[in-house]
Amino acid sequence: METINHFIGGRQVEGTSGRHGDVYNPALGELIRRVAFADEGELDAAVSAASQAFPAWAATPPLRRARVLFCLKGLIEQHMDELAAVLTEEHGKTVDDAKGSITRGLEVVEFACGIPHLLKGEFSEDVGTGVDSHSVRQPLGVVAGITPFNFPAMIPLWMSPIAIACGNCFILKPSEKDPSFSLRLADLYKQAGLPDGVFNVVQGDKVAVNAILHHPNIQAVSFVGSTPIAEYIYHTGCANNKRVQALGGAKNHMVVLPDADMDQASDAIMGAAYGSAGERCMAISVAVAVGDQVADTLIDKLSPRVRGLKVGPGNDPETEMGPLNTQEHFDKVMGFIDQGVSEGAELVVDGRGLNLQGYENGYFMGGSIFDRVTTEMEIYKKEIFGPVLSVVRAPDYGAALEMVNTHEFGNGTAIFTRDGDAARHFANNTKIGMVGINVPIPVPMAFHSFGGWKRSLFGDHHMHGPEGVRFYTKLKTMTSRWPTGIRSGADFSIPTM
Ligand code: NAD
Repeated sequence: METINHFIGGRQVEGTSGRHGDVYNPALGELIRRVAFADEGELDAAVSAASQAFPAWAATPPLRRARVLFCLKGLIEQHMDELAAVLTEEHGKTVDDAKGSITRGLEVVEFACGIPHLLKGEFSEDVGTGVDSHSVRQPLGVVAGITPFNFPAMIPLWMSPIAIACGNCFILKPSEKDPSFSLRLADLYKQAGLPDGVFNVVQGDKVAVNAILHHPNIQAVSFVGSTPIAEYIYHTGCANNKRVQALGGAKNHMVVLPDADMDQASDAIMGAAYGSAGERCMAISVAVAVGDQVADTLIDKLSPRVRGLKVGPGNDPETEMGPLNTQEHFDKVMGFIDQGVSEGAELVVDGRGLNLQGYENGYFMGGSIFDRVTTEMEIYKKEIFGPVLSVVRAPDYGAALEMVNTHEFGNGTAIFTRDGDAARHFANNTKIGMVGINVPIPVPMAFHSFGGWKRSLFGDHHMHGPEGVRFYTKLKTMTSRWPTGIRSGADFSIPTM
């Protein structure tokens, strides 16, 4: 059986730790390949390769670094079909959705192509008599990215193009659930002309992650995944003097006011709650209906559409929703539905018990809707990360806003309304990192930055966009004076104007 290797110093390297993981095709429920699991020694080899490559790459003019990224952009476009097929096979998402996620990653490559402009510093003439001051942003060194299973292409592409464009060398530790894309990306970086050692892949599980967190020559760690692991990564990385940005889980609320266009709102919920089987950190998992009439209308509009969702393998062009990613995750989501029923929520559409002919071993479930969910229920509090929508009935706008603001997570939220005052109040007062107004999945474009608040992000920097450039660089400020022949003598007090 094929084994997915590491990629270190410009070539694939077989695992030597003796440990490996299993990779499944979730539509078939079949083991399709193995993935090597790195130990400390293998991670150290990647850090050595990256450290060796760093001085020359950091000294490469930003415009030349950008040319490599231009080339990578062309290669990703050229290989789009094949790359999307890899994602569908190992993750389960539909081919269209896979291509969309690659395109969102490609936008970060495009943004990183502008790196000469993004790295421009500031200059102040005459900060004192005959004294000038200027600042530049310089790369950190070797940096690492640890990524989740749900976006095996997009999230490595949120991190690596900017890190590399800034002059760093990058080590990717992808999810062990769908690791194949990482090796294709490494190949494409190489074909694009990236010098060996600038982009490396170390496959593995928590052993590889811990090796990253404790390695003295890794300067910064970007992480995306669940909240308990994000919190652990942040504290452990910081305790080891690394710069860390750790993005965690989510429970995104969409508030629907009585004046909203209900057809537009229900279209939005369909895509945002059930697209990619709800395995998106920006999925809408809670619809907060303001008033019983809004709730009844939404339930009437959504229920037949959710029952009619075309569930199937991601490579069938008719499919709207593919399988969940693993048996373990499938069992977890099923467990949440059982729990919702026992907690007293009203299961209006039940996605359990779906049997797809020819795919009996796949991890498929139908879409589910719970009505009359309350804020005390576990299905409201916890991230389910599956195609399960909770409808919560709020008496008024104030109660809806309070719900959004008191929830543990703060990744994304949306409001659907025609009332400009309410929309503006919501945008100004939600304690959430990304807000949509009549937009259900407000994922910022590559030239803005992505990140949540509260327990959805640990650290100060959001990802990609200007925040990405700040995260992957250090600021240096120079103050200079050239000899003029005028001497002012030694001065023992702090310099002032
Ligand atoms: P996860 O936290 O299980 O895994 C993420 C990464 O951490 C993987 O590379 C994994 O190998 C590693 N890891 C897992 N357990 C570990 C441990 N005990 N110690 C050290 N490392 C460990 O997350 P997942 O299941 O792959 O992804 C789904 C989660 O990611 C959801 O919670 C989702 O909301 C979140 N997510 C967040 C964002 C965001 O931008 N905020 C984006 C995508 C996904």
